Amino acid sequence: MNGRRVGMPRRGVLRAAGGALVTGALTPGCAPGAASPTATAEKPPGAQAAREGRDEQGAQAREALRGHRAVRPAPAPRRFPGQPVQIERGPADRPRVALTFHGRGDPALAVAVLAEAERAGARLTVLAVGSWLDRHPGMARRILDGGHDLGNHTQSHLDINALDERRAYAEITGCAQRLRRLTGSIGTWFRPSRARYATPLVQELALRAGYPHVLSYGVESLDFTSPGTAAVTRKVAGELRNGSVVSLHFGYRDTVAALPLLLTEIRRRRMRAVTATELLT
Ligand SMILES: [Zn+2]
Repeated sequence: MNGRRVGMPRRGVLRAAGGALVTGALTPGCAPGAASPTATAEKPPGAQAAREGRDEQGAQAREALRGHRAVRPAPAPRRFPGQPVQIERGPADRPRVALTFHGRGDPALAVAVLAEAERAGARLTVLAVGSWLDRHPGMARRILDGGHDLGNHTQSHLDINALDERRAYAEITGCAQRLRRLTGSIGTWFRPSRARYATPLVQELALRAGYPHVLSYGVESLDFTSPGTAAVTRKVAGELRNGSVVSLHFGYRDTVAALPLLLTEIRRRRMRAVTATELLT
């Protein structure tokens, strides 16, 4: 009975969000103008959508069951004294790096990335798109349960720096509300969509929404251009330093294949892959 009460409004939300998502299906990467013909970031309606619908029902059932247990709220955003508002890297004097992911696309590929990291004892940072959480609400808890950081990557992954104040703020708070509903927290980080850096206005809006810092990055993997596993691995390994924050994307097979190679390289250099929060702490 409790499950039914929780489940019904959520299905309504999902149905509404499903239609809106299709328009964003061809904007996979974080970078402005990024596009890839081989991207598997979002699937068109059809058999895949039907399968995802079943996945959603399973996730809802699991969530309803979980409602009987007390779940601690996820960590809230923190201010890191001495760090700039916009963080691109962590301390260079410790052998640690943060692998950070744009959170959208086929959930099976996302789970493959999470599981691979967990096998290797690595912790990731996932910046989730709000509309993706509408379609795959179970992913929020799945990410947190693996010991990873979960943050806000706007509601619909528009070019947030180009939006007017009202729409940009709605993009930030829309995703924050979903994170709070699913996890009890607005998430530990905010990262702008389709931009490496937030404009001063977007930084201010993120602060107003509760995020003292914007999580940028210093190493761009370009995995969303689907350049092949070797190219992704080579680009990241070539630029990786102590304290690096690396930008990667869920939803791409190259990324899934490159991750074990990257984690081996990180281990070979006696570095550790930690969450962005750990990197800055
Ligand atoms: Zn992105």
